[in-house]
Amino acid sequence: GATLGVLGGGQLGRMFVHAAQAMGYFTAVLDEDAASPAGLVSHHHIRTGYEDPQGLATLARACAAVTTEFENVPAAALDTLARSLPVSPAGSAVAIAQDRAREKAHFVQCGVPVAPHAVIETAAQLAAVPADLLPGILKTARMGYDGKGQVRVATPAELAGAWEQLGRVPCVLEKMLPLAHECSVIVARGRDGTVVHLPVQRNLHRDGILAVTEVYEGNLPPAQTSQALVAAKSVADGLNYVGVLCVEFFVLQDGTLVVNEIAPRPHNSGHYSQNACDVSQFELQVRCMTGLPLVQPRLHSPAIMLNLLGDLWFTGDQPVAPTPPAWDAVLALPGCHLHLYGKVEAKRGRKMGHLNITGATPEAVRATALQAAALLGIAPF
Ligand code: ATP
Ligand code: MG
Ligand code: MG
Repeated sequence: GATLGVLGGGQLGRMFVHAAQAMGYFTAVLDEDAASPAGLVSHHHIRTGYEDPQGLATLARACAAVTTEFENVPAAALDTLARSLPVSPAGSAVAIAQDRAREKAHFVQCGVPVAPHAVIETAAQLAAVPADLLPGILKTARMGYDGKGQVRVATPAELAGAWEQLGRVPCVLEKMLPLAHECSVIVARGRDGTVVHLPVQRNLHRDGILAVTEVYEGNLPPAQTSQALVAAKSVADGLNYVGVLCVEFFVLQDGTLVVNEIAPRPHNSGHYSQNACDVSQFELQVRCMTGLPLVQPRLHSPAIMLNLLGDLWFTGDQPVAPTPPAWDAVLALPGCHLHLYGKVEAKRGRKMGHLNITGATPEAVRATALQAAALLGIAPF
């Protein structure tokens, strides 16, 4: 079999490796961490950083195609690899996803509504921010995830203080919007421009981190669902994207759909597809990078995903010895599928695994998910 490569060794890389192996491929993971979740399960583990030319050359020699699981991989590394083998997504698309300012400009170009915002790169731009963008959220243009690199600000003085606090790096100030729901769409786009999608996911975030994803008929108002699918496709087409892309949206209280951001890879909100769809987001990633046919996935079960954060491994306040939750009671419930990432150390807020729950009806899956959440100490939703 051919070898497929992935830049990054986190949980997304690990689940990509599992999907690739199931389809008969060998895998190669590039990640400097000796205990990376993907490196631990891969045939080859190249233990260098993304900028190391030798590591990239080794990966290129070993592989038939390469993808990424980490959105902040240097776009230049993807460009370098693309000189010798197919790389999806392309460095040019990843570069846009890595920069909130460029990302917003792309959404506007695609005709998809975005939150009112201003780019702040200089003191003059800071001073010129229109008052109606406040209260807002100041976000670093680069490198933020799980709500990190974001400060909520209500006044011009707070805004100035927040920009100082973030180190005066390029930022985007977004108006704070009155959200009714959050949702996301996973699309997969092939080299020939074929686009398929997973059903629209309804997401609940807590403290800036995804907590719960619910997917079933009626999880969102139908008008927003169809708008989200059209918008996600136009964002992918506009990037001439090849690979799996997640597009995150806000649904405002007045029903308006606004695009939030994109992730150029499979996404936490698409994990339910492993157990609830006939093609998972990781199989889509394999199919995209190898040029295998893309068929429209079908949701065969209503599903809820609960994120298992490191907090669940602690029995009290830090410092205490981490203990894994007792899975027995949870796995005694119907339709519970446990996914753990093999991370060596539990930390608060760290993604350790997820629980996919499938059921015959939305009511049944919700009842089971609420029972599982109660057993695990996850707040009800
Ligand atoms: P991710 O881990 O998804 O990449 P991130 O750090 O890039 O997260 P965002 O998606 O920008 O963060 O924001 C995190 C969460 O904060 C959103 O899912 C939403 O709940 C809230 N949020 C962000 N921007 C706004 C806004 N303009 N108005 C209201 N809420 C917002
Ligand atoms: Mg983000
Ligand atoms: Mg987000």
